[in-house]
Amino acid sequence: MSFWMCSDCHYIYEAETPEDVCPECQGKCDFYNISCYIPECGGPGNIDMRLVEQVKMGLKREAHSL
Ligand SMILES: [Zn+2]
Repeated sequence: MSFWMCSDCHYIYEAETPEDVCPECQGKCDFYNISCYIPECGGPGNIDMRLVEQVKMGLKREAHSL
C-alpha cells in the first residue's frame, strides 16, 4: 500500500493506486505518492513528512508524482 496526497485539499489516504477522483474534495486532482521509502522516516508503511511539506508548499515537482 502507498500513501497518496491530494494536491488541492491535501487529503491523505492509503491505497494501492491513486483514485481517479479525490475522496475528500471530489476533484480530479493530482495525487502525490508521499510514502516513505527511506529509513529516516521509518520505512515502508509510514508517511514521508518531507514530501508532505513539499506538496503543501507547492513544490510538486519535487515529490514523487505518478
Ligand atoms: Zn482533494
